[in-house]
Amino acid sequence: MGSSSEINSGEGNQAPPGFEARAAFPRPWAGVVIMEHETTTRNGEPAIVVRLDYDEAREYLALDGDAIAHLDSLTESERGVLVQELRLVPLREVAEYAIGTGGEPIEEEDDYDEALFTLEGIDRAAYLEVLDRAARIIAREVRGWDTEDVARLVELLTKLDETADRADRKAEDYVRMDALPSAPIPEGVDTGYPVWAVDKHGQALVGEGADEVESIEEVRAYCEEHARRMKGIPLRCHKCGHSWLYRGGSQHRTTCPDCHITVYLDKCEISHGDLRGAALDR
Ligand SMILES: [Zn+2]
Repeated sequence: MGSSSEINSGEGNQAPPGFEARAAFPRPWAGVVIMEHETTTRNGEPAIVVRLDYDEAREYLALDGDAIAHLDSLTESERGVLVQELRLVPLREVAEYAIGTGGEPIEEEDDYDEALFTLEGIDRAAYLEVLDRAARIIAREVRGWDTEDVARLVELLTKLDETADRADRKAEDYVRMDALPSAPIPEGVDTGYPVWAVDKHGQALVGEGADEVESIEEVRAYCEEHARRMKGIPLRCHKCGHSWLYRGGSQHRTTCPDCHITVYLDKCEISHGDLRGAALDR
């Protein structure tokens, strides 16, 4: 009998790469189990091995003319014992590609996506397991973010979103968004404005969807303006002299509640002390 890389047909046919004789695998694989997969390791990293029987291999290789020609050339007995072993690239490599720290695994990404696509078609449980483990690896990178550059955090969260989404899950299933790593958030930035994380250079991840980046100074200015607005802006009408506390939404102008003339905030703002004095004068 030849090596495990040959079809176990007894006729010496050379199998294409990845094909192995079913007999090469220990029981219970030798039974009628179909579309078996297992988690294993390659170079010490988690990997997924999927074993396809003849029909599944045909489905997987449908677009590969040479492989299909080879499959067509097999005898019935050869088909009966054929197993194609499909080794999905180690998950760490996949995740590293996803998180951008790997080398240049362009081919592997193609292979991986193709394998995932096929895997989803023929074994959704295995597909979800692969995605879940990849998402966990990316989530670990998120939790370990060094707070150096918020763009990196955005990139990681985007990849996590994409990976989780393919499994009908959410990034929040893998990371606590309210507990992201962060450089200290400066005073004057209150929690009413969603600031998820700040990097060492003062750039902040903000927005309801945690998908916008602003400098922490912009955020602080917004918070201060917001606080000022909540407190109210004392105004005195330049025409009739009426004084009041303005809490409206415009940053530029409003209407005097007394004489209804247009009042510009920057021209008519007075101090809170002056407002109190005006009230006492009444
Ligand atoms: Zn007025």
